[in-house]
Amino acid sequence: MPTNNIKSVMQGLSQKKDSYVRYVNDEVITWCSGCGNYQIQNALKRSLTLEGYTADKVLMSFDIGCNGNGSDKIAMNTFHGLHGRALPLAAGAAMGNTDLKVIASAGDGGTMSEGINHLVHCVRSEYPITFILHNNHNYGLTTGQASACTLPGRAMNGSPDGQLLEPMNPSEFVLNLNPSFVARTFSGDVKHMTKIFRKALNHKGFAFVEVLQTCPTYNKVTPQEWYWERVKYLEDIKGWKANDLEKAKKYIKDFEKNVYVGVFYENKNIVPYVNKLPYLSDYKGNPANEVKHFDVSKLIKSFE
Ligand code: SF4
Repeated sequence: MPTNNIKSVMQGLSQKKDSYVRYVNDEVITWCSGCGNYQIQNALKRSLTLEGYTADKVLMSFDIGCNGNGSDKIAMNTFHGLHGRALPLAAGAAMGNTDLKVIASAGDGGTMSEGINHLVHCVRSEYPITFILHNNHNYGLTTGQASACTLPGRAMNGSPDGQLLEPMNPSEFVLNLNPSFVARTFSGDVKHMTKIFRKALNHKGFAFVEVLQTCPTYNKVTPQEWYWERVKYLEDIKGWKANDLEKAKKYIKDFEKNVYVGVFYENKNIVPYVNKLPYLSDYKGNPANEVKHFDVSKLIKSFE
């Protein structure tokens, strides 16, 4: 139910006061002062509100990490899983209940190391998930160890001589997997994040969004000012169209002089995972409704 301006959303909110919530609760925020997570979560709440989603129709699967500590700070259905496993949990939810808008949130540590296999197969499978990768270039929750994305140049906890290996570039990695949606944005620019999240929420398949996130406590190599000096917007490139994978790969590579943000690639002509199965090619139902008449209360009780 996309809604395109704040006025109509606000009218909708006042008309449907009971069913709309603004994703806000009273939980105590534990992120460090100046952390990019504040802006990311605010941009997401804003995007969901502008797109007209009610909180009861959204589920977020969180990984372990500083991003995962946001799981109780947003009022909606949330699941805080094991490290590196935000994506398979999201895939199960998205396949099981097609009425839900499913979003997964994970850091660069969990995504590009522990859970990299899940990322690869989510891209291949086109599960209908909006995936937000918080790339702060380190393992922040465990006090600043080097991740697969840490840039060379600074000693980290556990690697006093600095990162020795070539860092991974997550968006470049995903562009090589024949994806249908790849975008990158920056936690310092809430307006841009909101724009990108809204596009990702409207994508029918697997939407990969990398957010270059500031971590003022442990990442002193790429602070907010570092990004502002380098961030360039793809939409400012004359004639830019997000339909050329090879061109996208060229712009994603540079991470020294220019850091491009925007939608790098989008293919709207995709077949959702469930419809790839020959006997379900026309399926438009919701599996959750088909199992409603089964009473599983006893089974659930057995876990208590
Ligand atoms: Fe944010 Fe870094 Fe603090 Fe974690 S350690 S809360 S990512 S600033």
